[in-house]
Amino acid sequence: EPSASTDAEDNILVTIRVRPESVKEKELTGRRGPLVRIVDRNVITFDPSDYETPNERRALGVRRGKDLKFAFDRIFDETCTQMEVYQNTSKKLLDGVLDGYNATVFAYGATGAGKTYTMMGADSSGPGLLPLTVIDLFNKINENNNKQYKVIVSFLEVYNETIRDLLVDPPLDLNAEDAVLADKKNKRNRDKEQSLEIREDKLKGVIVSGLSSHVCNNADEVLALIKRGSSHRTQYGTAANSESSRSHAVFQIMVEQCERTANVMMDVKMGKLSLIDLAGSERASVTMNRGARLVEGANINKSLLALANCINALGKNKGKGYVPYRNSKLTRLLKDSLGGNCRTVMIANISPNSLCYEDSYNTLKYANRAKDI
Ligand code: ADP
Ligand code: MG
Repeated sequence: EPSASTDAEDNILVTIRVRPESVKEKELTGRRGPLVRIVDRNVITFDPSDYETPNERRALGVRRGKDLKFAFDRIFDETCTQMEVYQNTSKKLLDGVLDGYNATVFAYGATGAGKTYTMMGADSSGPGLLPLTVIDLFNKINENNNKQYKVIVSFLEVYNETIRDLLVDPPLDLNAEDAVLADKKNKRNRDKEQSLEIREDKLKGVIVSGLSSHVCNNADEVLALIKRGSSHRTQYGTAANSESSRSHAVFQIMVEQCERTANVMMDVKMGKLSLIDLAGSERASVTMNRGARLVEGANINKSLLALANCINALGKNKGKGYVPYRNSKLTRLLKDSLGGNCRTVMIANISPNSLCYEDSYNTLKYANRAKDI
């Protein structure tokens, strides 16, 4: 029997978001409809036994469906709004962050499954988790008059084990043509590009040397930075094997607080919220079976594999044993934000269409393992 964790003390909340079928998917697969069936808010069936009728199965020469049931903390179907997703995921982390705890939200899934839609939003659907979180964070800050908060934002990309600052503008004095050339040159040089270095500070935790950080006084200032940073992400096309699908976009909000007592500022605490649009999981998913130690392959994203290994380790020993944070840039970056006292929300995105059979299956298995943290 599948079981979802209901323990409020749980450090991880694992959710699934099923996007609507695209027009193209429908065209290609005809009337067969979705490969996943959402039983209720907590249970989803993958490849139900009646996905094909007995006649269809005979005609297609396929076996009965796997009919696998998975339980999660929450399943969002294709009708769920961005606000519903927000309210049941990152909103739950805000009080902790305002109280000085670190937390992380991941959008996981294959390319095209809906990660960026979930995190950033789309014109058609309005703002995604990042903007909704930022707006609510400032609402909470403004409601609390006893404390003073300072909000500091940074936004980076891990691409090819290279950390790039997304909030540093490219040179402004280029005309359009030069900008295109510079961009091409950039792309060629990216493998050789110097990565910003990660170090650990006793007081401040994980720090990226040279990364710009931006003090923001209101939500609008942060939203402008999100927009600016997003436009700087590595993206050359949208195909599954394009470069954009291999980059992790890491947006971090640091909330520093101090209590105001008789004009003396006391008790500086700092909470950090990381919101991450992960690289496409399609390459990594092949090796994601059974929690076996993942081995780096030529085309597999090192940071994504390292993250999976950390999640496996955290799941096995409840954070008490060795967790291999040092194996990638992404996991080193998250050393102070994953495991321990930190809370984590995973939103695993899938397509409901049978064209994405392997990806969805692997994503559900991955998310299922993450529940144990
Ligand atoms: P990813 O970032 O995982 O590669 P995207 O977020 O770019 O995937 O989504 C792929 C496509 O599906 C986009 O056209 C996006 O607008 C659409 N899409 C994703 N999720 C949803 C959703 N919940 N509702 C409607 N459209 C969605
Ligand atoms: Mg994307």
